[in-house]
Amino acid sequence: LPILLHSFLYRKAAAATNIPTFLLVGPSGSGKTAFATLTERNTTTQTHTSTTPLTVSALLPEPHVPASSHYRSPGDPAFERSRRFLLLDTPGHGKLRHFATAQFVDPKNVRAIVFVVDAAAIAEEAGLNEAAEYLHDILLALQQRYTSAKSSKGPKDIPVLVAANKMDLFTALPANLVKIQLEKAISEVRSSRAKALRDAGAALSGGEDEVDEEKEWLGEGGEGAFEFAQMREIGTTVDVVGGNVISGKEGGDVAAWWAWMAEHL
Ligand code: GDP
Repeated sequence: LPILLHSFLYRKAAAATNIPTFLLVGPSGSGKTAFATLTERNTTTQTHTSTTPLTVSALLPEPHVPASSHYRSPGDPAFERSRRFLLLDTPGHGKLRHFATAQFVDPKNVRAIVFVVDAAAIAEEAGLNEAAEYLHDILLALQQRYTSAKSSKGPKDIPVLVAANKMDLFTALPANLVKIQLEKAISEVRSSRAKALRDAGAALSGGEDEVDEEKEWLGEGGEGAFEFAQMREIGTTVDVVGGNVISGKEGGDVAAWWAWMAEHL
């Protein structure tokens, strides 16, 4: 019920405004709430309205400039307006994930997806597999949204930022390794999903319930490994960028994420 309620509130808020939304997703414990809190705190000195606990209304912090305002001057009201965005925090718990994927079905205001991972958890098999499965499902949802689009132009591109968090921990993998490990693990998720489908298909012995395997296969067909670059075919760029929301005295560093968000605002 809380999910339904939230989804209702979100729809209402989204209908009332046209503020670009960044969907915040990722495994539980990766730092989504911490990032949402930081983003909101960053904005409290300026006018903003807080809607639901899970939706943060924010302004892109200085000195970042939204890509749409590169040619505007700072005094221009359109410049200030263009810095507004919503951050929609979603539960990372497996059973609640359908909530996040449901957003793709009607993503009018979803400008981009920020997938937060714990770069130290990624260094271990369990953490890596959890993140890879979740990211696989999100990318597959984006692919299916693209391939099932009615218009020949295709739907609006939705880029993905893999925000490799907790770089302050010395066990954290650097961003380039987070990328390589996730690509490898997603390749494995893809193969095991395909095998499960084939096994289920064989059990059904060619009935009408057969699943279209091609539609369930992420990225390029064939034997090759999965790479994020394959998502460009479906209008999705995937960038892996390191940062840390919280660390000792310095209070974290997520400038590179905000720079990425600015490019998509
Ligand atoms: P969520 O489940 O994705 O919302 O994750 P939270 O935001 O609740 O964060 C989970 C835990 O990770 C909390 O204890 C945070 O304090 C911690 N955390 C978040 N960001 C960082 C970070 O950059 N570095 C470190 N060391 N811990 C972090």
